[in-house]
Amino acid sequence: MLRFYNTLTRKKEDFTPLDGNTVRMYSCGPTVYNYAHIGNLRTYIFMDLIRRTLRFEGYKIKGVMNITDVGHLMADSDDGEDKMAVAAREQKLSPWEIAEKYAKVFFEDLKKLNIGVPEIIAKATDHIPEMIAYVQALEDAGFSYETSDGIYFDIAKFPGYGCLSGANLDDQLAGARVEVNSEKHHPADFALWKKADPRHIMQWDSPWGKGYPGWHIECSAMSKKYLGDTFDIHSGGVDHIPIHHENEIAQNESLTGKQSVRFWMHGEFMLVDGGKMSKSLGNTYTVADLEKRGYHPLDFRFFCLNTHYRKKLNFTFEGLDAAKTSRARLNAQLKEHAEGSNRIPVEKLDSYREDFKKAIEDDMNVPLALGILFTAIKEPKSKDIYELANEFDSIFGLDLNKAALAEPAEEEAVPAEIIALSDERTAAKKAKNYALADELRNKITAMGYSVTDVPGGVKIKKI
Ligand code: AMP
Ligand code: ZN
Repeated sequence: MLRFYNTLTRKKEDFTPLDGNTVRMYSCGPTVYNYAHIGNLRTYIFMDLIRRTLRFEGYKIKGVMNITDVGHLMADSDDGEDKMAVAAREQKLSPWEIAEKYAKVFFEDLKKLNIGVPEIIAKATDHIPEMIAYVQALEDAGFSYETSDGIYFDIAKFPGYGCLSGANLDDQLAGARVEVNSEKHHPADFALWKKADPRHIMQWDSPWGKGYPGWHIECSAMSKKYLGDTFDIHSGGVDHIPIHHENEIAQNESLTGKQSVRFWMHGEFMLVDGGKMSKSLGNTYTVADLEKRGYHPLDFRFFCLNTHYRKKLNFTFEGLDAAKTSRARLNAQLKEHAEGSNRIPVEKLDSYREDFKKAIEDDMNVPLALGILFTAIKEPKSKDIYELANEFDSIFGLDLNKAALAEPAEEEAVPAEIIALSDERTAAKKAKNYALADELRNKITAMGYSVTDVPGGVKIKKI
């Protein structure tokens, strides 16, 4: 029996879909104002594991993921400028160009990491009428009030507020920082619709004048449109529990009076070197950064699979090196199995299958499932094990079927010194200092590495 941990009830519960054999699932998607970093991507690997697990159990999926291209302000709690507008100004592009640029790379990253794309991709700016209708319905039902800068949800009208995070409204009130928006009735009231000043780049006509939607209403309006008033699973990162997802629940459930999401599932955060990822610390690595350093995107996927999704995962390059080595060994062993002539008794294979299923059904214990694979590959070399590994790969998504085609033997990671020289060379080229760029390339060659320009960056290889 498949069991998932439900953030709402704080326990593992048996899972079956509401609607026959099809699971309806909503996943909070990216705000496309920048490249996705490895922390974001851990959350999408988690989404992918849910989808793979559901298929493994024989279910069909109707999955929706949003692309937020308006309304996500610098702070999740309605403060600051729209992230898209800031990126547009800084890069001298329109918000639509910004969205297109980063969404394209996002989908390329998903592909590289073998993350399946949900059946429906919903762009926020394509759903403005649905959002306006939603806000209107909340207003008609008396759940909102108007201030000089927008329409706000009145959380005092929704007694269930805080059910997901277990937060108590009075505690929140006591702990609130000095309120920036004094017109709000409660600090946790949130914007459903923001009135735009005339210079704001993204704005639409509405019953409340020109403006743009709040971030939370996007997910409520789009999940309702495609999945209905009550659906099976909602996924996202743990950071969304206290604000974004509480607000989604308030919007959904005040209007319908019904439970909107049956299973709330949250992936824990990725840390870097034990701390927070942030641009100012220069540790928000992207898939391209890892590739530049000589890692395969699946090394990162493998690295993530080794830690349960509800545990924090600390990213270090030493950890990624270990994952890379271990994946290379796994592939090498599987290649030997693919060519092996021993036979493994059916009962033995079935017992591996049973253990594997048990691990996956127990709230996706993928690290344990990997352990079962690593035990199985110790068997005498046999095609049966190679085939078993490929059955398991429907969950892992590690391209184990390619192992028989021989992955190159363990490659060493590119030393930091070489990467630093390559970065200097890129900077020199950007500054049109070609003499210096050539000099740096020669230096890199002399140290035994080649550097080639490829779209979006460079490729460094050992000569
Ligand atoms: P955003 O584009 O900021 O809305 O974030 C996209 C997804 O990445 C959300 O589901 C976040 O919860 C998740 N996320 C952001 N930072 C991290 C992190 N350090 N580790 C894991 N997930 C993250
Ligand atoms: Zn969302």
